[in-house]
Amino acid sequence: MSTAFTAILLGPPGSGKSTQANFLVKELEAVHVDIGLALRKTAEMSTPLGVRISDIMNRRKELVPDDIVEEVLSGALASVSPDRLVIIDGAPRCSAQIGIVDAMLKIFERKVDAAIYVALSEKESVRRISRRWMCPQCNRPFVRGADFQEENAMCPTCRVRLLRRKDDTEEGVRKRFQVFALNTLPVVEHYRKEGNLLEVDGTKDPVMLFGDIRAHVVSH
Ligand code: AMP
Repeated sequence: MSTAFTAILLGPPGSGKSTQANFLVKELEAVHVDIGLALRKTAEMSTPLGVRISDIMNRRKELVPDDIVEEVLSGALASVSPDRLVIIDGAPRCSAQIGIVDAMLKIFERKVDAAIYVALSEKESVRRISRRWMCPQCNRPFVRGADFQEENAMCPTCRVRLLRRKDDTEEGVRKRFQVFALNTLPVVEHYRKEGNLLEVDGTKDPVMLFGDIRAHVVSH
């Protein structure tokens, strides 16, 4: 594996991108660049930018403008040492961002070494998201009915109450799935054509799925 391996993680809502990114962090000491999380944090601020992002993400459930994503990505990459494995979760999310991500990686002497696409149907995406809660502190997802049952459940690690993301409504996930199909599937096809796409089945057991991803990453 080259010292500055960089992978991007693509997939519709609920496909398990964050779970796989967390495995990569734990097992391969990767740095997880989570664009959606960084944007959600900004959206919680009562600054003009925060209010604008919140409107786009939480009310319209659309993509935020490319220049904002570029800034988030630049800030995140600037703090990563060059020899660390980086997983970019959530960008490029549309064709226009492919060049932006490439140019940004070039500044940090990186390139997209692998694009990992976790595929999932709309039906399964909606089913999963409608049962998803998150820990607001460690951002780990929890599935109601599997990981916890009761109202007001707490994160076992952080001891804070689990919450739902503002955009995790049924209408929200359907809209985000459409946005994914329209804007992000062309990005998947771009990497397929370039020959550096690993497509994995998001319905597979997460540990087995990680086995496939890990094998791909370490073989580089
Ligand atoms: P995620 O956490 O990946 O589900 O992203 C949550 C939301 O953040 C998306 O629905 C978009 O509104 C926004 N977002 C995340 N990544 C991007 C991106 N690369 N470009 C534009 N918007 C993004």
